[in-house]
Amino acid sequence: MTDHRPVASLSFDLDNVWSFLKTHGDPEWETRPSYLTTATPRIVEFLGESGLRSTVFVIGADADRDDGAEAVRAFAAGGHEIGNHSYEHEPWLQRYSADRVAAEIDRTHAAIVAAGAPAPTGFRGPGYSTSATLERLLVERGYAYDASTFPTWIGPLARAHHFRTATLTAEQRADRGQLFGGAHQALLPLRPHRSASGIAELPVTTMPLLRIPIHGSYLMQLYAVSPRVARLYFSTAVRLCRARGIGMTMLLHPTDLLDRRDAPALDFFPGMGVPAREKFAFMRWVTAAMQRHFTVLGTRDHVLHALEAESSCAPVP
Ligand SMILES: [Zn+2]
Repeated sequence: MTDHRPVASLSFDLDNVWSFLKTHGDPEWETRPSYLTTATPRIVEFLGESGLRSTVFVIGADADRDDGAEAVRAFAAGGHEIGNHSYEHEPWLQRYSADRVAAEIDRTHAAIVAAGAPAPTGFRGPGYSTSATLERLLVERGYAYDASTFPTWIGPLARAHHFRTATLTAEQRADRGQLFGGAHQALLPLRPHRSASGIAELPVTTMPLLRIPIHGSYLMQLYAVSPRVARLYFSTAVRLCRARGIGMTMLLHPTDLLDRRDAPALDFFPGMGVPAREKFAFMRWVTAAMQRHFTVLGTRDHVLHALEAESSCAPVP
């Protein structure tokens, strides 16, 4: 690479209306409401205007439907990598048996290929859920990387907020006992690395030192309170990452470009009152701020580049 800027990445998790409702405990999710016919062209436009080749992590149950398969083809046709985001998007995946986790990976893999995209080689767990079993299954299947870890201490707070605001049965609460992970996650590395299972791991970047989130939905929440503070916060994150030699992995969701008119069922979700065109402009600013400091790629290219750089720096035995 001739560019002098360090490598970073930006990716989308293509979470759908039904998957948000499911995590929220709303039984309406079973009708599988979708906004993909609105979200897909908007993300394609956003990535095009940003001049980015990105990665879109797709849910298998969507890739198996017409609008999800269309989305897979649209992103692949734009040169974007398609990643595996599990089949049923259940952020309590770490509670499942190995067979059930394997089915989550394999059904999604098959649906993405059937929709017409190249076979995925990257995985991101729903709600940052991951486990040693999951990593082993990915290694066995020849996946190149996992992008599920989220090095922050904020998981238990996010879970407490979720329990306060969602209507959940006792069983749903038990399922969500580890939702968004524990505070120990703050100790996980921020840089791409090889995990104990041997798979390459690309963490979702959090603010260096403070280990608080900087992904799109969190920024949007700040933006809804104060656009100025949101810009200052993200600029600080970019500068800290650059100063500490951390290639950012920025995560966006469709809701970062949609508003309550696009998705009335998601009114409970933070930031949905900000008009979509304003979100689009803010996320373009976020992307441009990253691009000033980094060469922004998709997640696979990011992780391969980072590990290659690491091995070329390794001492000769
Ligand atoms: Zn997701």
